[in-house]
Amino acid sequence: MTIAGVTWRGDGLAGRVGDWLVRHQATIRRLQWSVVGIYLVLVAVPAFLPLPDRSAHIWSNITVFAQFVFWGIWWPFVLLSMVLVGRSWCGLICPEGTLTEFASRYGQGRALPRWLTWGGWPFVAFACVTIYGQMVSVYQYPKPVLVVLGGSTVAAVLVGLRYGRNKRVWCRYLCPVNGVFALLSKLSPLHFRVDPAAWHASQRRREHPARVNCAPLVPIRTMRGAGECHMCGRCSGFREAVSLATRAPNEEIVNVAGQRAHPWETVLIVFGLMGIAVGSFHWSASPWFITVKQALAEWLIDHGVTWPLETTAPWWILTNYPAQNDVMTLLDGAVLIGYILATGLIVGGAVTLLLAGATRALGAWSWRRFHHLAQTLVPLAACGVFLGLSALSVTLLRAEGVTLSWVGAARGFFLAGAALWSIWLAWRVAGLTAHGLPRGLATACVALATVVGLSGWGLLFWVW
Ligand code: SF4
Repeated sequence: MTIAGVTWRGDGLAGRVGDWLVRHQATIRRLQWSVVGIYLVLVAVPAFLPLPDRSAHIWSNITVFAQFVFWGIWWPFVLLSMVLVGRSWCGLICPEGTLTEFASRYGQGRALPRWLTWGGWPFVAFACVTIYGQMVSVYQYPKPVLVVLGGSTVAAVLVGLRYGRNKRVWCRYLCPVNGVFALLSKLSPLHFRVDPAAWHASQRRREHPARVNCAPLVPIRTMRGAGECHMCGRCSGFREAVSLATRAPNEEIVNVAGQRAHPWETVLIVFGLMGIAVGSFHWSASPWFITVKQALAEWLIDHGVTWPLETTAPWWILTNYPAQNDVMTLLDGAVLIGYILATGLIVGGAVTLLLAGATRALGAWSWRRFHHLAQTLVPLAACGVFLGLSALSVTLLRAEGVTLSWVGAARGFFLAGAALWSIWLAWRVAGLTAHGLPRGLATACVALATVVGLSGWGLLFWVW
């Protein structure tokens, strides 16, 4: 097949899918703009309607419907899609990606400042949005949805208007879930594979194919993994060297992720997904949260300080819905933030120590090895966040009278499977450095780290 003087080729079924994507960019754009329309309606309209009463159903009330779409389907299944088909959501469907790229076509096209490319944004943005979402009860009420999702969309458009030309600078550097998506897509069995030999051969033949606009700014020639690629398909067949291909789900973490240290990815896995995310799902069910809050309240009253127990804040700072009997005081908010941060530090600290033990078990200290071992926890971290988010789907479906008696067993199955997957990855990664006892000790340390991760979800799903 020849497009714009370039011969494009597929490679098996996956390759043909890649070629289909490159030939049907107009169809993909129509799909993207349809999603933008639906997304804007579901984000904006419920915020201007009265809150639904107890008789409202998913099928009869747009607010409940939007709640179910965003938190019951969108988030958990977008996360799952990362593991199954890489970041196809980002490249083919995501409304923010569509809008920011569209805006950057007509914007100022400025060069990227250094602050914007800081590697810590994926963790910082994820942590801030996660905690803020809990402060304003984003899963329960439509106005916070407008602030959190709508605010993110406005920011994406503004970044598009200012930086890059036809690019997705927001998605690449600032999107709050960019880091999470990049981690999960490392497990995907699908990726765009670059054949360096074919690329060089094309250059030797002095071919000058039409340029590919890689909107998320991936250096295609040196791309080795799926973390940064949005699977848009535009480069499929480029220089007869790029094609959609299948691979073993362990391939990237075992053989690619260790080539370069990724400290911020480690922070996101260990303190973000295994810590802060757990705390944000925990606090509302946690007896420890109640105990700490009561102890602090008694202490404050004993010392004659009552304003933190009486003062509330606007709904866009702390949950404030008196008619629903759902109001947070300053004390509630402070304990909530403290609880989530403490969970992040305690779980993240314990996992960090165990990863350090695994690193030392394999020989002299190596930061690169430490960060590589952290990547082996991606399956468990991903599974936990998926189950945490899908708990909302379960709650919403149960409220509709759907019987889901199998959910507990399914959760146990998935968590155990994800932990075993992480342990197997640790065994494979440790085997790149050592064999015998050191390899076994390193794997045992990672296994203990999975126990730490499992404990948090075990408390939430089976103990409290
Ligand atoms: S490397 Fe860029 S152009 Fe190619 S599929 Fe990925 S996101 Fe699209």
